Amino acid sequence: MERPIKSHGRLSVSASVKPRDLMSPTPQLAQAWQARIITLFPDAFPGVLGESLTGKALQSGLWQLHTTDLRQFGVGKHRNVDDTPAGGGAGMVLRADVLGPAIDAAMQGARGRWPLIYLSPRGRRMDQALMRDLARTDGVTLICGRFEGVDERVLEHYGVLEVSLGDFVLTGGEIAAQALLDGTVRLMPGVLGNTASAEDESFSSGLLEHPQYTRPAEWQGRAIPDVLMSGHHGKIADWRRAQSEEITRARRPDLWRKHEESS
Ligand code: SAH
Repeated sequence: MERPIKSHGRLSVSASVKPRDLMSPTPQLAQAWQARIITLFPDAFPGVLGESLTGKALQSGLWQLHTTDLRQFGVGKHRNVDDTPAGGGAGMVLRADVLGPAIDAAMQGARGRWPLIYLSPRGRRMDQALMRDLARTDGVTLICGRFEGVDERVLEHYGVLEVSLGDFVLTGGEIAAQALLDGTVRLMPGVLGNTASAEDESFSSGLLEHPQYTRPAEWQGRAIPDVLMSGHHGKIADWRRAQSEEITRARRPDLWRKHEESS
């Protein structure tokens, strides 16, 4: 098998003049949170995750990304990865005897708590609680489906957790995987410049965020609310809290009900 695994992130690939200290109990490389992606389109990664804060964090080794090219595990001369659905019907299904070995390879050396996730419209919908939980694992392995999806036996055999981006159907799991990774990685220490910004944003308190404004003070005849210009921190906090509640009540009665029950 030629190079089934491709790595992203400077620390995972760089040569160094000084030999790295691999004998110390907690070398940085061994500690970094890792995402391993099984996909037919490894070039789609890091994609948007290579930009801005998640990209800088990847470059500096705060997290790592490895792709496993499913095509490399294909069978026969043409490295086929899919076949027609048993029982008939439209489309193609990713084969168990292709995906299985790819999962085995991708999971090699996975340590500690390391969920194996299949991005799927049938899965548990992504939310902030899931991102928070995943940020506390040692890493994740993500299976990106294509076509009609994957052979069910693989999901059963490996006890795969199915996770959905939302109630709609995409052509593949790659975009959903990147959404999951973005939401997770930004919660890791050092990824957001200002750690406070992860603390008072939407969902952190079970409420949606208050409106935000910045310069200019007036735009198209619209002024920034006076209270925000008052410099009175107590009043500003009260106003933001009230706005959060009002917006959550109006837009997301489901979140509002939960919030009321818990307070
Ligand atoms: N036939 C399947 C859909 C297959 S879509 C069904 O009806 O359930 C092809 C691939 O895109 C899936 O294998 C999955 O990996 C990905 N995908 C599609 N929609 C998704 C969603 N809402 N969330 C996460 N992944 C999704």
